[in-house]
Amino acid sequence: MTFPPRPDRADAAPVAEIRANLAAVRARIDAACAAAGRPAHAVRLLPVSKTVAIPAVRAAVEAGITTFGENKVQEARLKAEALADLPVNWSVIGHLQTNKVKYVARFASEFQALDSLKVAAALDERLQAEGRGLDVFVQVNTSGEASKYGLAPDDVARFVAELPAFASLRPRGLMTLAVFTQDEVQVRACFRLLRGLRDRLRETAPQGIRLDELSMGMSGDYEWAIAEGATVVRVGQAIFGRRPTPDGAYWPGLLPAAESVD
Ligand SMILES: *Cc1c(COP(=O)(O)O)cnc(C)c1O
Repeated sequence: MTFPPRPDRADAAPVAEIRANLAAVRARIDAACAAAGRPAHAVRLLPVSKTVAIPAVRAAVEAGITTFGENKVQEARLKAEALADLPVNWSVIGHLQTNKVKYVARFASEFQALDSLKVAAALDERLQAEGRGLDVFVQVNTSGEASKYGLAPDDVARFVAELPAFASLRPRGLMTLAVFTQDEVQVRACFRLLRGLRDRLRETAPQGIRLDELSMGMSGDYEWAIAEGATVVRVGQAIFGRRPTPDGAYWPGLLPAAESVD
């Protein structure tokens, strides 16, 4: 898949470009929904703004985006501060260390990478102190790659059973990253595994916990994810252009010794 150029080039007209890219992605989402016999409103598009410069994020707000996904807490935090004058929500979609929990409790409206009770407890404590709640997704490692974050599929039910202890966390569903390959069969197997897990959890989850959402699919595979039941797709490069940083900076193990900027 080819991605549009970065809209934060000095010579670009960011709002118009972002608007056009957004419309193109939304049209493909709608078509994928139609092909799967699902209504278009069944899929939420979460634009992912990681590495996108603040002026271009502002342009994206002008183009109509109200919630942004960010992988790294530090970057998200700086952007949340820089855009504090705008009505914008922040979804943290990357792995969280307990020492960063306090920031997330302050500025985020959603956290999609919950995969430890330690982080759940720390988040809950900070949220209670802030008087806030947080929508959370449980991240599942559906590819079986040892380097990936997320719970093993077999551990998810036990994990979810513990969540009612954390009153400020609002569990919404499951999130995954598919295996990094262009192979449709392998990618869709990851998505299908997540959906099957969600369907089974609906029967067994504790009272009051509703896991309806399936956050799966990115720029290269969101149409397959929609075919497999995604309710949230996290799309960066197809909206904001190709990222200059390698994906290994976000997903350990993908590239050798990628340096973290967090
Ligand atoms: C960056 C990122 C995405 C979006 O990837 P694109 O290739 O830019 O669409 C989705 N999910 C997570 C967790 C990410 O870090």
